Order: sequence, then structure tokens, then C-alpha cells
Amino acid sequence: MSITVGFISEVSELEQRVALVPETTKKMIKAGWNVSMQAGAGANAGFIDAAYIDCQLESSTQAVLSNSDVFVCISAPSAETISMMKDGSVIVGMIAPFADQQRFELANKKNITIFSMELVPRTSRAQSMDALSSQASAAGYKAVLMAASSAPRFFPMLTTAAGTIRPSQVLVIGAGVAGLQAIATAKRLGAMVMGYDVRPETVEQIQSLGAKFLDLGVQAVGEGGYARDLTDEEKQQQQDALSDYLKKVDILITTAAVPGRPAPRLITEAMADNLKPGSVVVDLGAEGGGNVAMTEKGKTVNVAGVTYMGPINLAGTLGLHASEMYSRNVWNLLSLMNNDGEFEINWEDDILEGSNVTRDGQIVHAMVKPKENSGEVK
Ligand code: NAD
Repeated sequence: MSITVGFISEVSELEQRVALVPETTKKMIKAGWNVSMQAGAGANAGFIDAAYIDCQLESSTQAVLSNSDVFVCISAPSAETISMMKDGSVIVGMIAPFADQQRFELANKKNITIFSMELVPRTSRAQSMDALSSQASAAGYKAVLMAASSAPRFFPMLTTAAGTIRPSQVLVIGAGVAGLQAIATAKRLGAMVMGYDVRPETVEQIQSLGAKFLDLGVQAVGEGGYARDLTDEEKQQQQDALSDYLKKVDILITTAAVPGRPAPRLITEAMADNLKPGSVVVDLGAEGGGNVAMTEKGKTVNVAGVTYMGPINLAGTLGLHASEMYSRNVWNLLSLMNNDGEFEINWEDDILEGSNVTRDGQIVHAMVKPKENSGEVK
């Protein structure tokens, strides 16, 4: 039986992305699936309706949702969206599995099966489906561009008739996917870059990008290769060592995160006193409470001459490429459910099992169950 995959315009504020790009819908149609879309859904990402060849255009979200067997989204679907969906249908997207548990009750009533892109296991086989990585990479890149465009200084060293300009000193804290992309981007702009993380394997990763590792003497490896929360003693040691180094920094990008926890607070108000006027801080932890005390979520503030930026959804501002990467991630996951054009879910597959939140309406992912929803993702 041929299925219909649907997607609609993303509703979140400042969202430029679209869940499926023409390259992917073409592959779905080639596989024998139908695609239904809301007219104009790709416009913000730079994809006009005419590019979605052979997709069925609908004027309302209701028309798409009530007709789709599989609904693909970027932002977490609201209860209202779920209420418009077909009984027994499937959702694939950034579900925000820890938020708004009411949605899962509604999914339960409608026997909906949900796959969360955030819960795709971070294994080698699942790399091409890893939307956390693809979108973090976009965010890390954009964070550096934001810093560069608001900094009152050049990034590279310049030798000019008006004298020599010293390169900017950039410190990136947190060398996961976003942090490594930030380091690479700052290097390409010609800055002097230092990177820091609590996971020892990042030393080599930072150095391989031509940056230097800032050794603060604290290591904290948690489960599944992720970082763990620091003890109070380790936090103090980290802060003491970091505090002094901040005096040299022109640009600070923070990306530190521990899955399922609020963003670790790395820079206190007292430490920030050491930042020079004119320096710029971009805190990618803003959404999770901020790595930096002065960060205001979604805002840019100036305190004692230092600019603090707390952007949210940075990947959403890179509409075209972030959508292309996300759409490929989704297609690679959905391909596991494509058996010669027939839509079949193989529940033995560890990737599908790992990313599955509800199955025919029943909550199956332990982390989403209310009592345990403050635990780690992995
Ligand atoms: P993340 O967004 O959860 O965290 C960002 C970084 O913050 C991490 O590198 C973490 O170590 C660091 N951090 C946490 N607390 C800190 C602190 N107090 N001080 C300094 N740094 C701190 O991480 P992510 O980018 O999603 O991924 C990180 C991990 O996942 C890495 O182990 C990465 O190699 C792994 N990963 C694996 C795959 C795969 O195998 N397919 C894909 C992507 C990522």
C-alpha cells in the first residue's frame, strides 16, 4: 500500500527551515510514496512550491494532516497539530520528548506512533540520521558569524599601511559538534582560537582543527561518551582556572551541555568582570538556562562594555542548508521503514527502537515516561 508523507510550514518564531526539501521529496516519490505539503511551506528556506515536483499542494495544514500517514516536522508538534492527524498515523521530527506530556496522551487516544529525531542513537550506523549533529553544526557556524559581525575588531591579523592589527583571541568552551564547528569557522576567519572541553578526546579534535587546547585540569566523562555534571569541587577548579584566562579573550563562544540537564553554568558574574570591554560572548546554552550568568535567552545585552548574546534556534536561521541536512537525516531514517515502496516498521532495528517514543499511542521510551523524564537521554 502506498503511503502519503506530509509536511507543513513551520510555525515557530524566526524559523526559516522546512522539514522536507525537494531533493528528498523526489526520492520519496521515486520510492513509490505520495507527498502532501502545505503551499509555501519551503518559501522561508528558499524552496518555491514549483521545486516540489509531483507533490500535492494543499492550502491548509488541516488538509495535509488529515491526509498524511506519516507527518514530518522540525519543531515539536503541538497538541493542536496532533489533534488534526489521522488515527494510527506516524510522526517523525524534533519531538522535544521531555516537554508537554499532554501531547502524548493525545497521541495515545489517536494511536499515533512517534519517532523523535533527538533520540536517534549516536552510533556509526545512525550518523546519517543524526539531526542533533547536523543542526548543532549549523548553530556553531552561525554563532561565530554573529560574534564576528558584532565585534568591534577584525578576526584575522592584518598588516596594513595604518599598522598591524592583532588577530582576535577566540575561546570556544564545549567542543561537541557545535563547538568544533565554531572552532573551525573562527579559524577560517583567521582568529587565534583556543578550545576547551571536559572530555579528554576533544584535545586531539580541537588540535586537528588548528586550534589550541586550553587545559583547565578538569575531566568529566559521563555515560555514552557524553560529559557528566561536574562536582562542586571540580566546578570551582574549572572556574578558578578559567577566570584568569578570560582577561585575554576577545570572543567567547560557549556550547557546553549535558544531555537532559540544564546548561552547566561556566561563567559567573564575578568571572565575567575579567572580560575586556569590547569583547563579545555568544552563549549557545541560552536555551537551556545559559552557560554564562549574564545571558538573557533570545536577547543581546551589554554589561560593562561586553556584549552578551543568547540566541535561540540558531540552526533555524540558516534555512536552506540546515533544512537540506535535516531533510536528509529524516529520509535516511524513513528509508529504514521503506521495504520496496511498502511502509514497514522493523521493530527489531535498534535505531527505530531507540528513537521511538510512542507505538500505536503507547509510550514506549523510558525517558519520556513522566517519572523518569529528568534523566539523561543516553
Ligand atoms: P552536547 O551538545 O551534549 O555538549 C556539548 C559539549 O559540551 C560536549 O562536548 C560536552 O563534553 C561539553 N561540556 C559539558 N559540560 C561541560 C563543562 N562543564 N565544561 C566544558 N565543556 C562541557 O554534545 P554533542 O555535540 O551533542 O555531542 C557530544 C558527544 O556526542 C561527543 O561524545 C560526540 O563525539 C558524540 N557524538 C557521537 C556521534 C556518533 O557517534 N554518531 C555523533 C555526534 C556526537
